[in-house]
Amino acid sequence: MKFNTALLHQSFDGDSATGSTLTPICQSSAFAHESAEKLEAIFNNKAPGYAYTRISNPTIDSFERRIAKLEKGIGAVSCSSGMAAVTMSLLNILKSGDEIIAGSGLFGGTIDLFDDLRVFGITTKFTDEVTAESVSKLITGKTKAVFTELIGNPKLDVVDLKAVSGVVHSHGIPLIIDSTTATPYLINPFDYGADIVVHSSSKYINGSGSAISGMIIDSGNFRWDKERYSGFKEYEKFGKFAYLAKLRNGIWRNMGCCLAPMNAYLNSVGLETLGLRMERLCSNALKLAQFLKTVPGMEVNYPALPDNPYYELVKTQFGGKGGAILTLRAGSREKAFRLINNLKYACIATNIGDVRTLVIHAASTIYTHSTQQQKLSAGVYDDTIRISVGIEDADDLIGDFRQAIEKI
Ligand SMILES: *Cc1c(COP(=O)(O)O)cnc(C)c1O
Repeated sequence: MKFNTALLHQSFDGDSATGSTLTPICQSSAFAHESAEKLEAIFNNKAPGYAYTRISNPTIDSFERRIAKLEKGIGAVSCSSGMAAVTMSLLNILKSGDEIIAGSGLFGGTIDLFDDLRVFGITTKFTDEVTAESVSKLITGKTKAVFTELIGNPKLDVVDLKAVSGVVHSHGIPLIIDSTTATPYLINPFDYGADIVVHSSSKYINGSGSAISGMIIDSGNFRWDKERYSGFKEYEKFGKFAYLAKLRNGIWRNMGCCLAPMNAYLNSVGLETLGLRMERLCSNALKLAQFLKTVPGMEVNYPALPDNPYYELVKTQFGGKGGAILTLRAGSREKAFRLINNLKYACIATNIGDVRTLVIHAASTIYTHSTQQQKLSAGVYDDTIRISVGIEDADDLIGDFRQAIEKI
């Protein structure tokens, strides 16, 4: 199956009990069973079945199976949000005293989270660019995970997965990739050596900004050394499913960051048009970037432009497609605000991956908790506008930006 066919038919063929063509919504907290013995078996993972929606639910299961297959993973665990997915993907393997290595171009919420983790004794070493060289310099005996975004939001730096995963694996450390902005349409990170993938499925997977959710997918390829990752001792018996089993039976379940069935449903529906939307979004983003490139006094950043430093990687890893986010430096904070306010179609909103174009002044919003140094390392300047391109007609979008620029 090719991508768009797979979105509809892989791991999903409606509901056999009713013929429903969409995933039915099981809006129930608990599931009743015919005997105490049956519920005991389900609770102890000795029989398949559902007990309680914080632990599992048919609507959520269906969404997880579709995403796992699409990312070529062995399984997936869904979360209440992308942030919950990022948090859980790490807390499943870390303990006090451990270190994370991360790219400094990360999503602002993730940078804030890594600050929060310090009080629990988990520290993060940031590198301005995630490369094999920069990461290998930072690895110590305490490093337990390398975490980065494949296309940084909003820095738009692209990671060479093969090179970085090679170095990381040679130290017995897993590579965890936030692939939210790349999506499975551009790449399956497991093909290039990533071990765990997380998504904020609130974004491109949902597609129309209707529900928050997050996903953790495991490749099943990483072998967790039980001395180094001591929590894995009792999960050895699960073989390649150890990470997912530990997550489901441990911190994910107990912190209670489960996805709501309704949101799993909305994200499943959105997922079906991911290919169509991404095709249009990438094409619109490139056209808008090409136009903005011609504007004097402004600087556009889009990975698929030929003069972008990541252009070659975009070709080899993403088949030449650059995703749907670009950033524009307007010249000053004041110009950035005026440009944003003069746009007719773009919503001024803190989201990405919607069908409509969204713009935001990153420094004063999503990076408002960051230090000046953190902002600069993340490519967030005082005049930076982040644009999440929508599916509007490209001519209309370009026309809108043209008139807004003319006004300032
Ligand atoms: C939005 C986003 C997140 C956080 O996801 P939520 O669903 O908003 O919690 C994490 N990483 C990236 C790259 C994002 O864009």
